[in-house]
Amino acid sequence: TEIYTLSLHDALPIWFEEFPAPERRIFCNRTLNLRGIQAVGFDMDYTLVHYYIKKWEERAYEHARLRLLERGWPVEELRFDPDIGALGLILDLELGNIVKANRFGFVKRASHGTKMLPHTEQKAIYARELIDLADSRWVFMNTLFALSEACLFAQVVDLLDEGRLRESMTGVPIGESGARPPMSYVDAYRLTRSAIDAAHMMGELKAEIIADPKAFVVMDPDVPMALMDLRASGKKVLLITNSEWSYTQAMMEFAIDPYVPNGTWRDLFDLVIVSARKPDFFAANAPIFEVVDEEKGHLAPVVGPLTAGKAYLGGNAAVVEKHLGVRGEDILYVGDHIFSDVNVSKKIHRWRTALVVRELETDLESLYAFRKKQAQLSALMERKEIIEHRYSVVRLAIQRKSAGYGPQVDETIKELKAHIAGFRDELKEIDAEIAPLAIESGQLSNKRWGLLMRAGNDKSHLAHQVEKSADVYMARVGNLLDQTPFVYLRSPRGSLPHDFGPEGGSAREETP
Ligand code: IMP
Ligand code: MG
Repeated sequence: TEIYTLSLHDALPIWFEEFPAPERRIFCNRTLNLRGIQAVGFDMDYTLVHYYIKKWEERAYEHARLRLLERGWPVEELRFDPDIGALGLILDLELGNIVKANRFGFVKRASHGTKMLPHTEQKAIYARELIDLADSRWVFMNTLFALSEACLFAQVVDLLDEGRLRESMTGVPIGESGARPPMSYVDAYRLTRSAIDAAHMMGELKAEIIADPKAFVVMDPDVPMALMDLRASGKKVLLITNSEWSYTQAMMEFAIDPYVPNGTWRDLFDLVIVSARKPDFFAANAPIFEVVDEEKGHLAPVVGPLTAGKAYLGGNAAVVEKHLGVRGEDILYVGDHIFSDVNVSKKIHRWRTALVVRELETDLESLYAFRKKQAQLSALMERKEIIEHRYSVVRLAIQRKSAGYGPQVDETIKELKAHIAGFRDELKEIDAEIAPLAIESGQLSNKRWGLLMRAGNDKSHLAHQVEKSADVYMARVGNLLDQTPFVYLRSPRGSLPHDFGPEGGSAREETP
């Protein structure tokens, strides 16, 4: 067959790729020996099947908006804006804000409703707040599905602020009279959430997508190829999705079947579980059902062990472990939902985890485009630090001279003050050069919110969550093809502020 007509490096271009392109790489937080993994489970939506985000989220948003319209809300004019929120941002239900935080939970940027807050205002509001995701005040944007919800929430906050909501629409007292508690931003969120939830649960949205998958699904032949590699290497391959059977069947058929020689997507999986109800799938004991009539989606309770190749509904992680006869640490789960797919599976069952973050591609692209300016910016910052240091040293010399203690310098105070003035001018010049670069760096990838994984100079809250929960992460499932099923993924050593060398702050002259 064709395979034998190609040379090794023509058939397997990865032969040459010791260092794949950044957007194709698998990034490693915790060392993972893929050879030792016995089963690989995959989430479907935004993992195996990627959607045109603007298109999918616009439809979800529209279905939710129409529900509110039917209840008399003044939402005729509202339209979906994908830039209002972003993966990894946090809704502040108490204040009606969307915020971006750094890894410690300090807010670095914020909007109220749909409008960005000026830096001073944001600082005044959040100077004493620390985000704790365990508190229901904060809602983390765990997946791309949150884009429609965040946009609608922000717009509803605007409506509430403008006084355009009435109790007859919301069922919640708005509070002009002051006699009853006024409608809060928490209420606004609850009502938005239930409209979005209904859009996902009621059949119309999914029916629309099933009717025209070409308009929604991004085709990617690398995905079935990666699944085939894993399966042929002896690993069990599983599909565990929250989507219902009819939707799963339609999406997988459309996205995968064209690339399966003489077969269907079903041939690539040892076990298929739909309506899995993650995160509860990893935390609770839900019963499992067999999908007996795949046309109609009819179910039957499962008696005895599961049968390879069949499709199931519900169940839980323990059932899967038992069926496969493998321990959690030998199962890798690949998904896009930071809480349901990687946080809970790891926390409760110690499954190994891989997170798929498609937006990483945009981050990497803009980082690459900015790399020369980033080098300039870093050089300017280094220069600034040196001048600041000298400025402070001269200031200390003046202080000691004026107060008459400690070692004294020869220069007069007047001469020292002239130095200070010089440094001040120099700092002003450097700052003028830094400012435009710093602004540009803060707007990389997303004008409003900047790079996903960064907050200022630090890691973003998203980056922190990813580090905690995902053993490895990558922009798309197809990136598995830039490695092999036998790869030993090793985490980088990781830098600490006190490390020696270019990354860290410690340095010492080499003594011969
Ligand atoms: P998975 O990513 O393959 O596990 O599937 C995600 C499923 O959850 C899709 O069928 C989505 O429509 C559904 N989903 C996403 N967000 C919501 C929601 O807010 N309420 C109900 N279902 C949702
Ligand atoms: Mg998903």
